[in-house]
Amino acid sequence: MNFLAHLECSQCARRYDAGVLQGLCETCKRPLLARYDLDAAGQAIKPSPSRSRDVWRFHELQPVQDARFRFSLNEGGTPLVTADRLAKAIEVPPGTLFIKDESPNPTGSFKARGMAVAVSRAVELGAPSLSAPSAGNAACALAAYAAKAGVDAHVYMPRDVPASFVAQCHAFGAHVHLIDGLITDCGRASMEDAAKYGRFDLSTLKEPYRLEGKKTLGYELAEQMDWTLPDVIVYPTGGGTGLVGMWKAFAEMEAMGWIDSERPRMVSVQSSGCAPIVRAFDRNEETATLWENAATVADGLRVPAAVGDILMLRAIRESKGTAIAVSDDELLKGATMIARAEGIFAAPEGGATLAAFIELRNSGSIRDGERTVLFNTGSGLSYSHLWNDAGREGAA
Ligand SMILES: *Cc1c(COP(=O)(O)O)cnc(C)c1O
Repeated sequence: MNFLAHLECSQCARRYDAGVLQGLCETCKRPLLARYDLDAAGQAIKPSPSRSRDVWRFHELQPVQDARFRFSLNEGGTPLVTADRLAKAIEVPPGTLFIKDESPNPTGSFKARGMAVAVSRAVELGAPSLSAPSAGNAACALAAYAAKAGVDAHVYMPRDVPASFVAQCHAFGAHVHLIDGLITDCGRASMEDAAKYGRFDLSTLKEPYRLEGKKTLGYELAEQMDWTLPDVIVYPTGGGTGLVGMWKAFAEMEAMGWIDSERPRMVSVQSSGCAPIVRAFDRNEETATLWENAATVADGLRVPAAVGDILMLRAIRESKGTAIAVSDDELLKGATMIARAEGIFAAPEGGATLAAFIELRNSGSIRDGERTVLFNTGSGLSYSHLWNDAGREGAA
């Protein structure tokens, strides 16, 4: 049983056949979204504890049709931690601050969710070879799932990417291309080579199914909160698939009658060294302009331009949320605080959510008693170079 109906352009609503490989909308070059028959799904699907805990938990609401193509490395099913020691340290009432901890995912980040689904579906639809640009974590996830599925992977990363990411990709047997430039330059190279050599490119939101993997964040969160949603979600934003994916998940669950129409305020956090979404939000713009000279130690946030900008800004505004930038010092300090209070080795991107939360509490935009979920999107292990002597000093 599967309820995938068609693909739909997020901008012009043009429809596409979901049964063949698709990239961006041909008319407006914006992301395509997977649409399901949610009336029928709402009748047929019952959330039950006996289902698998990975991204295929609600496989009826995922694109893969043939179970043999549902590749899994046990991604997802991550803990929602009640962060009471952390709450106490920053004088927040107990039982109101949560961390959705994505660090246990295969290859050390929540990129595994998106790549599990995108690689599976691309292979089911016959892609002979896959590629993606990446700041590090997406490349590792693609490399791992390509290995699991037995297809070729080409990853394009900036030459200055941390060595741990390059090492993982080599271990999984991916073809590693190191590019002089930023992830936007990697994206260009990846796309050009894909066209030239007949590969299918899995750039963020330039195909419809990494988003479907990421939307499982929203399904899990609702289930872990007993089919309610928190008041506030604080999310470290790069390409935006997590933010947009959760927003999509909430709409799907409401359409199926699993949750009501209440929504959390979505807070997008970026680094002050690369904050195109924050700038566009502040200027009340519908699209974001390219951020020049993007620089941050939080590699997942080093995304100077994103094709999902309109979708991100729409979700933030519809939710009555906000967008906020924090410095690299603050986000590293945040990651270290999470580690010391909760025993979770947070990625710098996860640390950014704590820094933003503290700032929003100080300014009164998040009030006592509001249930807030911080997303720790990855493991600090991949960034251990940041906790050398200099990093420790900054964090103390
Ligand atoms: C990619 C990445 C992000 C940004 O995620 P998007 O959903 O693309 O905005 C945040 N944190 C980590 C650890 C990442 O790898």
